[in-house]
Amino acid sequence: MMKNAHRVLEQYFGFSSFRFGQEPLIGHALDKKNALGIMPTGGGKSLCYQIPGLLLDGTAVIISPLISLMKDQVDSLNSHGIASTYINSSLSYEEQSQRMFDVQRGRYQFVYVAPERFDSEGFISSLRRTKLSLIAFDEAHCISQWGHDFRPSYRSVVGQLQKLGNLPVVMGLTATATEEVTKDIQHLLSIEDDHVVNTGFSRDNLNFQIVKGKEKHDFIQDYIKTRPKESGIIYAATRKDIDRLHQWLSREGVKVAKYHAGLSEQERKSAQNQFIKDEVTVMVATNAFGMGIDKSNVRYVIHYALPMNIESYYQEAGRAGRDGERSDCILLFSARDIQLQKFLIEQSLMEEEKKTEEYQKLQQMVNYCHTDKCLQEYMLTYFKDPFRHEPCGMCSNCLHTGEIKDITRESQIILSCVKRMNERYGSGMVAKVVKGSKSQKVMETRFHKLSTYGLLSDLKEKDIMQMIQFLVAEGYLAVEDGKFPLLRLTQESLAILKGEETVQMIIENASKAHQELDVNEDLFENLRMLRKRLAEEHKIPPYVVFSDATLKELCQAKPKTKSEMLQVKGVGEKKFEQYGVLFLEALQEETHQYS
Ligand code: ADP
Ligand code: MG
Ligand code: ZN
Repeated sequence: MMKNAHRVLEQYFGFSSFRFGQEPLIGHALDKKNALGIMPTGGGKSLCYQIPGLLLDGTAVIISPLISLMKDQVDSLNSHGIASTYINSSLSYEEQSQRMFDVQRGRYQFVYVAPERFDSEGFISSLRRTKLSLIAFDEAHCISQWGHDFRPSYRSVVGQLQKLGNLPVVMGLTATATEEVTKDIQHLLSIEDDHVVNTGFSRDNLNFQIVKGKEKHDFIQDYIKTRPKESGIIYAATRKDIDRLHQWLSREGVKVAKYHAGLSEQERKSAQNQFIKDEVTVMVATNAFGMGIDKSNVRYVIHYALPMNIESYYQEAGRAGRDGERSDCILLFSARDIQLQKFLIEQSLMEEEKKTEEYQKLQQMVNYCHTDKCLQEYMLTYFKDPFRHEPCGMCSNCLHTGEIKDITRESQIILSCVKRMNERYGSGMVAKVVKGSKSQKVMETRFHKLSTYGLLSDLKEKDIMQMIQFLVAEGYLAVEDGKFPLLRLTQESLAILKGEETVQMIIENASKAHQELDVNEDLFENLRMLRKRLAEEHKIPPYVVFSDATLKELCQAKPKTKSEMLQVKGVGEKKFEQYGVLFLEALQEETHQYS
C-alpha cells in the first residue's frame, strides 16, 4: 500500500519524498486505524488525508472550521486533476443540494464541509447513502474545549458521526495541541496512543530575528528595499499604526494593502484578495489577518509591535514560509510596547487570576526579546517540544556577528545629559547635544553650555541615536508619550549613573547583506509573471499554479523536456499537462536571451 502512496505523491503532487510524519500517518489511515497528526503549520498535513483519500475507495469528507480556506483547497485539488468540491453556507440552497446529490453519486473524491453541516439531518442521511473513504478533522484542536480555539459546533459533529452506519476511518490534524488537548481529541475520535504522530513544533525554514534599538521605519524601509517583489505581512497593534504605516509605505511606492477591524467587510475581502493574488506585496494588518488564508509564499512576517505572548507570536510569525522555503520572522522590539500590552491586560475584564497569568506570559514574551540563546530553541522549550533541538544556526542570536561592546560610559553621558536637559527633549536633540552640534537650536537653548555638551563628539550622530534607542529598548530610558516623544530617566537609569551596573550592546559591523538565492532574478521574475497570468486566467491564486519553491527550482534546473520538468519538486503529470509547455517555453526563451 505504501508503494502506491509514493506513486500518488509523485504522480499527482509531483513530490519525490514524504515529509517527516506524513508516512506513518498515511500508513495508519490505509490500515484503517483512526489517527491523529500533530505537525507544525506548513508541515504538510493536507497530504496526510489527501493521499489515503485517493487510494481508498469512496469519497473523503474533510471537515474544516475555516470556510475561507475551502475554495482554495478545492481549487488546488482540482488543479491536480482530483475531482473535489465543498459545501458550506456561502452557496445557495440549490447549489448545496446539487453538490450533495453529486457526492452521493460518488462524483467526487473529496468534499470539504463546515462543522455546522452535521447539524442537518438531511446531510447525515445523504452521507449514509454515500460510499465514504475517510473523514478528516482539519484543525482538530477546535473540537477540544481545552484548546485555545474551541468551537462547540465542531464538537457536536462527534455525536452525529455515531448515526452513520458506514463510518470510515477517522483522522484528526492540528498544529497546536497541548497534552490535555491531545488526550481529549483521542478520546472523542477513538484514537489509540500508538496512532498519534507528533512531529514537534519546529519550523526549520523560519529565520527568527529580533531587532532592537533601530528606528522601526528605517528598518522596514531598508528591509523591503532589498526584496521588493516578495510577499510579506507587517503586524501592528492599533488601527492608527496600521493606517499610518499603510500611508507611509504607499507614499514610498510599495504595493501595500491594509486590514483591520475598522474597515468594511468588502474592503477587508478586497485587501485579502489583492495579497493572495500577488497584486500587492505587503500587507499591514492586525493579528486577525491570516486566520483563514493559506498563502504559501509569504516570505516574511514583521511584528511592528510586541505580541502579547509566545503562543500568538509563534502562530502569527508562522504564517511565513508554509511552502518550506526560507523565510524571515522579525520582531521589532521597543520597550514602550510592553507598557501598551500591560495596559491592555489591566483594562481587560479578566479575573485577577487570569490577569496574573497573562502578565507572566507577557514576561516570557519580553524575555524572548532579551535572551541571548537560540530563538528557535527558546520557543520550542516554551512549548515543551517532545524533541531535543540544536541551536538553529540562523536566528539573530545564533548569527550575531557584531562585537559586544561596553557602552557604560557613553550611557552615563547620555543619561546625565537627558537629566540636565530637564527631561523635556526627544532623542534627536539629546544626540545633537552630546555630539556637540553647533546647530541653531542647540545654541538658542544654550545647551552648548552644559557639561555634557560634546562629550561624545567622536561618535557619529546616527550611532548615538542608536545607542539612545537601545537604552530605551533596555528600559534605561523611557519615552514620554505626548505630541513629541520626550526622553526621561527611569528607575533603572540610576544604577547606571551610579556605576552599579554596566551596559553591553552588540554593535553590528555592517548590516548583513540579504542572502541572495542562487537564481537568476530576471528569469524568476519572468516565471512569476507567467504564473500570475495563468492564475488570473484560471481564477485561482498564483501559488496554486506553482509554489515559489517550484519556480526557483525551475530557474535552477532549467528543464528542457517533459521528463526533466517532471523531476522538479511540485510538478506532477496533471500540472505538466496544464502549464508545462508554457513554462518550458519561457525557460527556453531565457536560454537564448542570456546565453
Ligand atoms: P499544513 O496544513 O500542515 O499547514 P499544508 O498541507 O498546507 O500544511 O502544506 C504546506 C505546503 O507544503 C504546501 O505548499 C504543500 O504543497 C507542501 N508539501 C506538503 N507535503 C510535501 C512533500 N512531501 N514534499 C514537498 N512539499 C510538500
Ligand atoms: Mg492545513
Ligand atoms: Zn538560533
